[in-house]
Amino acid sequence: MRWFYNVKKRKRIFSIFLVGLAIALVVLLANFSSKKNRSEIGTGGTVIETTPPVITAEPKEPEVTPTPEQTPTPTVVPTLTPTAEPTETATPTPMETPTPEPTIAPTVAPTATVVPTPVKTTPKPTPTPKKTVAPKTKEPAKTPVAPPKAETKIELKYKNGKANANTDTIYPMFMISNKGNQSVKLSTIKIRYYYTKDGSSSETFWCDSFTKGSGNVMATFGSIKNKATADSYIEIGFSEDAGEIVAGESVELAIGFAKNDWSQYNQKDDYSYSSSRTYFSWNKVTLYLSGKLSSGMEP
Ligand code: CA
Repeated sequence: MRWFYNVKKRKRIFSIFLVGLAIALVVLLANFSSKKNRSEIGTGGTVIETTPPVITAEPKEPEVTPTPEQTPTPTVVPTLTPTAEPTETATPTPMETPTPEPTIAPTVAPTATVVPTPVKTTPKPTPTPKKTVAPKTKEPAKTPVAPPKAETKIELKYKNGKANANTDTIYPMFMISNKGNQSVKLSTIKIRYYYTKDGSSSETFWCDSFTKGSGNVMATFGSIKNKATADSYIEIGFSEDAGEIVAGESVELAIGFAKNDWSQYNQKDDYSYSSSRTYFSWNKVTLYLSGKLSSGMEP
């Protein structure tokens, strides 16, 4: 207790006490602050809200970037603005607007188109035109019925195989053509050649050539009264074996006849004579079809 009465000692002790108190306060404060930090991390939820604002503040920067405020600081601002602007401004606006509109519109449209279902209406149109086409085919069928007009037309041309005025043999040559639209049996055809006999001897006929066979050609001799240019004629015919001459077909015939005594004929006074050595339509030779005069003029 002596120190209590010693003033110097008492001041000294008091100052030491104050220093110690101050140190204790410092320690306490330090400890308190550390505890506070720990509690901030522990309770997180409430305090962390303060920390994110720092992050949210960064994205806000780009929004401000277009404004000329940052332009005064040339070095720092330009680097941040370009990266933030293109990504955020360009992409969000176009992406959001187009997507919602199309998705709603197409979904409604298809349902409307499916409802009409044109498949049911497709089969109907085809049967109707077929009915209209059918009558057309019937009309042409009627027309072909008309053409079957049987037209029989045989054309006869003649030339002289030996045009000498005086000859012991007469050589008429004929070209027979079917100008009709149907076949004609050659056995129905007859040809007559008119002449003056210049004698009384009997005569003989032969066939030099015929398209359908010389053996199928036959002839008879006849006489005519009171005709200055023709007192005789030879009528040429064909056997059944000669067959037909079809439409458009031509056959050629060369015959000869002579008197059995080989006496001369004077051809120049003969009705059917012509000096032509080429075929031509000669109306002084006559053609008969089934016994009826078809072409030429009888003397
Ligand atoms: Ca004669």
